[in-house]
Amino acid sequence: MQLGTIKGQQRVVDALTRSLAANRVAHAYLFEGPEGCGRRTTALALIQVLFCIQPVGGNACGSCPSCRKLATGNHPDLQFLSPLPDKRDISIEQIRELQQVLSLRPYEANRKACLIEPADRMNEKSANALLKTLEEPPGHAIIILLTTQADLLLATIRSRCQHLRFSPLQDQVIEVLMVQNGVEPALAAELAPLAEGNIERALSLDGDGDETKRRELMACLVQADTRQISTIFDTAESLSSGREETLALCTLLVSLIRDMLLLRTVDQSGIANRFLTVELTTEADRFSPDSIMAALELVLTTRRAIQGNANPKLALEHLLLGYDRLRKGV
Ligand SMILES: [Zn+2]
Repeated sequence: MQLGTIKGQQRVVDALTRSLAANRVAHAYLFEGPEGCGRRTTALALIQVLFCIQPVGGNACGSCPSCRKLATGNHPDLQFLSPLPDKRDISIEQIRELQQVLSLRPYEANRKACLIEPADRMNEKSANALLKTLEEPPGHAIIILLTTQADLLLATIRSRCQHLRFSPLQDQVIEVLMVQNGVEPALAAELAPLAEGNIERALSLDGDGDETKRRELMACLVQADTRQISTIFDTAESLSSGREETLALCTLLVSLIRDMLLLRTVDQSGIANRFLTVELTTEADRFSPDSIMAALELVLTTRRAIQGNANPKLALEHLLLGYDRLRKGV
């Protein structure tokens, strides 16, 4: 990926391009931004320019051995550091190993590079162990820390890095990126607004089963009835397979309820689930406009609760009970 072709993060790309042109690239960066906004892609593009054997006008050539190795994800001078599979934190042992590797001469590039992600998973010990390396990386190594929330990092770490803030991607950018990734333009236009600025989520929305999943979810919503409490418990049971899946489900719910709101207004051009127009219209008619809005808020609150470690199944039960109450106007 060329630095110059990164979409939707113009401010960050401009800053990096200026530093490259002035030969003043920092030795430690902190890239902060939401999931799926291009932090990792930008970090890799920056490293690619630095490693490239014959860069052209501030961009990597894309064809030299170094560029080719980075594209396949195995350049011997690039290290990735993340928590080990069964661990929450990046350990102090991992930081020491990294320091060991960085202190060796680069194999092919003229410096080494390291990507730490998520950097906020360094505990106090490992973060403190990294301080000195951040201040003076051996052999002019470049270290890039990725995080969704910089204030989770020690202030001493933050102050040693050049801090660049990424924004969520705009819907139009998501749409363009989806089309580049082979999604049908019409479908990309429908799905992009549901991705909330996250290209990874956008691409995951384009699964084959997605339309089926929405139909099933719609059917579950219509059936959930507090007078037959078992319908609520059974539905919650069948829908909640895990935290990530339940969060994805909440995103789909937001899209369905948002459409119900739109169907009650004059301008219906932004409707995402057109194939469900009949079902959504019927369902929307069972609500007052205010209570649809409240249902939408209920889903958003539930999603935050699940992100904050609430039990997915219990949270869904609570959501369905609340949804049906709102529908009845209680
Ligand atoms: Zn190259």
